[in-house]
Amino acid sequence: MIYLVGSGPGDPRLFTVKGVECLKEADAVVYDRLAPEALLAYARPEAELIYVGKKPERPTMPQEEINALLVELGRAGKTVVRLKGGDPYVFGRGGEEALELIRAGLTFEVVPGVTSGIAAPAYAGIPVTHRGVSTSVAFVTGHEDPTKGQIDLDWKRLANGAETLVLYMGVARLNEISSELIAGGRNPETPVACVRWGTTPEQRTVTGTLENIAGRVAEANLKPPAITVVGDVAALRTEGLGWFERKPLFGRRVLVTRARAQAGELSRELEALGAEVFEFPTIEIRPPEDFGPLDAAIRDLDSFDWLVFTSVNGVEAFLERLECHGLDLRAIPRRAKVAAIGPATGQRVEKAGLRVEVTPEEYRAEALIGILKVDSIEGKKVLIPRAKVAREILPEKLREAGAEVAVPPAYESVPSSEGKERLEGLLENGEIDCVTFTASSTVENFIRALGEKEAGRLLLRARVACIGPVTADTARGHDIRVHAEATEYTIKGLVSAVANLLAADMVEKGG
Ligand code: SAH
Repeated sequence: MIYLVGSGPGDPRLFTVKGVECLKEADAVVYDRLAPEALLAYARPEAELIYVGKKPERPTMPQEEINALLVELGRAGKTVVRLKGGDPYVFGRGGEEALELIRAGLTFEVVPGVTSGIAAPAYAGIPVTHRGVSTSVAFVTGHEDPTKGQIDLDWKRLANGAETLVLYMGVARLNEISSELIAGGRNPETPVACVRWGTTPEQRTVTGTLENIAGRVAEANLKPPAITVVGDVAALRTEGLGWFERKPLFGRRVLVTRARAQAGELSRELEALGAEVFEFPTIEIRPPEDFGPLDAAIRDLDSFDWLVFTSVNGVEAFLERLECHGLDLRAIPRRAKVAAIGPATGQRVEKAGLRVEVTPEEYRAEALIGILKVDSIEGKKVLIPRAKVAREILPEKLREAGAEVAVPPAYESVPSSEGKERLEGLLENGEIDCVTFTASSTVENFIRALGEKEAGRLLLRARVACIGPVTADTARGHDIRVHAEATEYTIKGLVSAVANLLAADMVEKGG
């Protein structure tokens, strides 16, 4: 089976659910330059990834070879995803590929995608139709055939053929096209907008009129890929519809270094502010080598007075293990109190249905100790299900205060270097604006993954933001310059630290 799948315009979240399903199933993915690379993460690790990217002037792989490749993969009995920018049937040569597959007797399906001709304008604040302004829209290609290199389109007839004209592949010959449209009777004052890399952090928009747009685009040095919108709708952008470009972190790239299981919240919050997020899972969460100590503690759960959770992973791993014993929260004795080391951990505990007695104001192990001590911890039994390698300070201090402490490993976090090469490339090219660290372990693991010297060198090319003073000290201990620390040691606190830091950068750059 061969799926001709539209990747959407650039923002990886503008991909279809069906597209994700196809990618998860694929043995081979044949993808283009305009398909967002982030989507490849949906493919299985063993899937073959084949780049057949085209550059506007020079196709890397001629269409015939792409067709032949698809046929070959199909004949080999593979499930193939042919991933194409935007929609496969909108100037994507998807139809040609489909016909070729039919000729070869292969089966295929089409998964439409969000086309850039609608999405790039939308992200630039331009609805392609608008009541009272435009009731028709035409999708037009600037090069009729990219390899032909000349226009044999009837521009004069097209000039007033629709109220909105959306031009694909046209920026390089805007001069010619706009003259033809004016010669065809379109008003030279017609508003025009060119949107480059629409829906991505690199989105850039240049506006003007039919008469002056070519000059402005040349002046701004706006290169392909860009969509050009001709028509009165292009002026709606100035009425405040340009929501995307106004986001505080618009155009910024932020690296999230966390265990994949946890990256979600931070990434979502940063993306909501308009940032493009790269997740580098420096750690991977796994079951501990030995469940023995945790199992013993679970069998002896009745004897504990306190249950202390130091991370979301700890909560989840503990609950999972309880379930393996055929138990649930009711196994925790009534008199036992629960403490959580920060709000995220606390929320996870409460989501599970347990009441959190104590969450320290300051989200640090040291602060938790202060609070627990007040409750006269002497002689009490404390269970701390947590990572195998975490900071020792909490159990030690509790023992000093006379508590009996069990610290069974509930999970293990092991270094991961998945996506390392890509990350190195991005940092090297200065394409990451800010690197975030959410725990000392993420700093340590980042350094372990890249190597101390290389990590130090590459981090000089980005800003560094840490969730709190302990993490920042760990970074400084490795000679990493820390540009921002969250004042509240939470994900939200870190997000605002990143936003403030990058906003200050903008002011510095005069942007
Ligand atoms: N099938 C694609 C179009 C492929 S033709 C689709 O449906 O979107 C390639 C042209 O698409 C580019 O030259 C450019 O005009 C346009 N394009 C693709 N992605 C774009 C983006 N993110 N921003 C602006 N234009 C884009």
